[in-house]
Amino acid sequence: MPKRKDFDSWVGCRMKSGELKERFDMLNKALCILSGGLDSAACLGWAVNNYNEVSTIFFNYGQKTYSREAKCVKKLTQHFEIKDNQVIDIPWLSGFGVSGLFNQDTFLDESNEKNEYVPFRNSIMLSIATAYAESEKMDAIVIGSTGGDHICPDNSPDFITAFQELIKNGTMIKTDITIEAPLINGDKVTSIELATENNVPLQHTWSCHNNIEFACGQCSNCRSRLDAFSIVSKDDPIKYERQ
Ligand SMILES: [Zn+2]
Repeated sequence: MPKRKDFDSWVGCRMKSGELKERFDMLNKALCILSGGLDSAACLGWAVNNYNEVSTIFFNYGQKTYSREAKCVKKLTQHFEIKDNQVIDIPWLSGFGVSGLFNQDTFLDESNEKNEYVPFRNSIMLSIATAYAESEKMDAIVIGSTGGDHICPDNSPDFITAFQELIKNGTMIKTDITIEAPLINGDKVTSIELATENNVPLQHTWSCHNNIEFACGQCSNCRSRLDAFSIVSKDDPIKYERQ
């Protein structure tokens, strides 16, 4: 799908084409899966600058950091003036309780980072997002998967490709919904760059897997986030317990 920026540079040569622009924009309706973290916040900024109409979908799946994420989701959606913000409760997922993201007593750090995997979580979320996008006849689902530094297989490029095929074969009302994963070949550095390009207020993001007052600085998300800010020589605007 052509992007807004490409269109604007193209339309720059044809300044009188307002009607055409309007028609073009009508093709652009996206649903952004938002978690309140750095990656999905960057993708929300990207979506706002590339689609005419953006909705968000946020999941309460029993994660222990839910209320911290929810505050960030609210700030981010207010910042970008998003009107349609879906919050979907799927608390039963935490009943399949093997993940450290559910258990308040499990402190996630380098020693046990594989415990952050939630069985089939991203497939469940993408399925629900697809159902909503299809019912609203949206063109795209935007997801912040970073294939370059994933621990969990459901963040990988192969997973996104497979799910795209599933959408093509499993939808009926709108069969051409695309999954847009702008960070799929990137990592946290790419994520910061995308967020900066799109003026995302990164002070309103929560990436940490542990439910403590400030980000822990020790879980895989905190470590990769801090490393990335160090690589790009910028200060992370959020507070950490330990760095
Ligand atoms: Zn952390």
